[in-house]
Amino acid sequence: MARRFAGGRLVVATHNPGKVREIGDLLRPHDVDAVSAGELGLPEPEETGATFRANAELKALAAATASGLPALADDSGLSVAALDGDPGIYSARWAGETKDFAVAMRKVHDLLQQAGKDGSRAHFTCALTLAWPDGHVETFEGKVHGDLVWPPRGSRGFGYDPIFRADGYDITFGEMDPDDKHAISHRAVAFRQLIDACF
Ligand code: IMP
Repeated sequence: MARRFAGGRLVVATHNPGKVREIGDLLRPHDVDAVSAGELGLPEPEETGATFRANAELKALAAATASGLPALADDSGLSVAALDGDPGIYSARWAGETKDFAVAMRKVHDLLQQAGKDGSRAHFTCALTLAWPDGHVETFEGKVHGDLVWPPRGSRGFGYDPIFRADGYDITFGEMDPDDKHAISHRAVAFRQLIDACF
C-alpha cells in the first residue's frame, strides 16, 4: 500500500519553468499547494543516478530533505532501440550547453545512419517520485512506445517530439495537439499511477 499525500504544501523539485507549469496543471484538481524548488531557493542536485528512477528519487529526496516538505520530481528521456537505449538518461545532455534539440535529433539520426538504419523503435520514459522528509519514497514509471522518423516534423511540444511518432498515430508528437499528447504521454501515464496511489 503506497503512502498517501496528506495535503498542504508540496515542492515541485525542478528548476525548469515548463515542468513546474505542467506539473502544477496536473496537480491543480487535487487541492495541492505547489511551490517550486526554484522559488524556495533549493540547490539543484547533480543527476548522478544510472536510471530514470534513481535520478527522480535523488532529486525528490534532496528537495524533501532540504525543505522539510513532501517533494515531487520527475526524470525522463528518449531511449532508441537501435542505439542500445541511448540517449536515455542523457537525453537533455545530448542537446549540449545551449539546449539545442535540433543538434540532439541530428545526432540520433547520424548514429542511426552509421548503424545502417533509417529509423528505429523508440520509447519515452518518465519516472515520477514523491518523497517525504523522513526518506520515504513512492516512484511510478510511465512509457510511450513508437517509431523515429526523419526529417523532424512539427514545431509543437519540446525536446525530441518532432522525430517521435507514437504507435497508432501517423503524426509526430511535434505535430500533435498538446492535449492529445498529454493524454497518452509517458508523463501522463506516470501521473495517473501517482494520483491513483497517493492522492
Ligand atoms: P530531465 O530534465 O533530465 O528529465 O530531461 C528530460 C529530457 O528528455 C528533456 O530535456 C527532453 O530532451 C527529453 N524528453 C523528456 N520528455 C520528453 C517529451 O515528452 N518530448 C520530447 N522530449 C522529451
